[in-house]
Amino acid sequence: MKTAAITARGLVKDYGSVRALRGVDLQVERGEVFGFLGPNGAGKSTFIRLLLHLLKPTDGSVEVLGESPLGNPALRSCLGYLPGELNMGARLTGREHLTYLAALRRGAGLDRMEELAERFGLDLDRSFRGLSKGNKQKIGLVQAFMHNPDLLILDEPTSGLDPLLQQEFLALVRESGERGATVFMSSHVLSEVEAVVGRVAIIRDGEIVDVDEVSTLRREAGQHVSFKFEGPVDLDAFSGVANFSQIKAEGNGLQGVLRGSPHELLALAARFHVVGWSAKDRDLEELFMDFYRSPASKGDSDAR
Ligand code: ADP
Repeated sequence: MKTAAITARGLVKDYGSVRALRGVDLQVERGEVFGFLGPNGAGKSTFIRLLLHLLKPTDGSVEVLGESPLGNPALRSCLGYLPGELNMGARLTGREHLTYLAALRRGAGLDRMEELAERFGLDLDRSFRGLSKGNKQKIGLVQAFMHNPDLLILDEPTSGLDPLLQQEFLALVRESGERGATVFMSSHVLSEVEAVVGRVAIIRDGEIVDVDEVSTLRREAGQHVSFKFEGPVDLDAFSGVANFSQIKAEGNGLQGVLRGSPHELLALAARFHVVGWSAKDRDLEELFMDFYRSPASKGDSDAR
């Protein structure tokens, strides 16, 4: 049986008195395209740097492709890594940097370097110093993908890419998934990765608050429902509907978020004179905001 692509157990990381990770347990299976989502400062980069043993855990353990990343340089050639911020010699050109990396990997990836550079419209002959953030990001992406690694670990891959290049990047991720690679990528914006990821983990303040299929989250995101009544209604009555939350009232209007069956809410509304109503699917990004605000608020514990 093949081991998981990534296994973290009780991972804790302190920077001095700052606890950046508070006991993270996470398993990513081989072949998954996995999204690691959380707001800035949640601990995404820290987790990723622990996977690569660029940092040492304070406590807990991590395995990558079934092995410990600790003192394991052979593992690195099976990985493609895009750092949050790419650093390379200021005078080096992209071509020099990437050729050097390919040499470390016994030439692996040299043939794909040109192809990927062309795909991203990257001029390989300009020195790093003069490149924009977007162009640096492109070098990082070529570096991560060029040797067709088994596991891609990408820290905020879409940052700095314009929308067309984001699409090109997502196509590349899809292709990698199709050839059986595992892709683990972080983002603070779900909509930028939503189209390609299967499962996502949501991290907040150094803790995983949810791991789910994107399709499940979409189902659970709920709907914005609003009613207009002929006259004033007993708004308190609506707070008794278990799956209706974030209720606001103004004049004869009432709105809130409905998750699951509308039956109870509509039965209650029908006891009043309804002159208008609407229901609109909630944006997934809004669900994420719930998670970011409070780990317990995905269900019905939102402020009413
Ligand atoms: P993210 O990648 O989700 O934006 P990070 O992993 O960079 O989050 O940061 C997690 C927490 O750890 C933040 O509170 C951040 O300020 C802190 N942190 C990150 N790197 C360092 C560091 N080198 N020294 C001290 N604190 C750090």
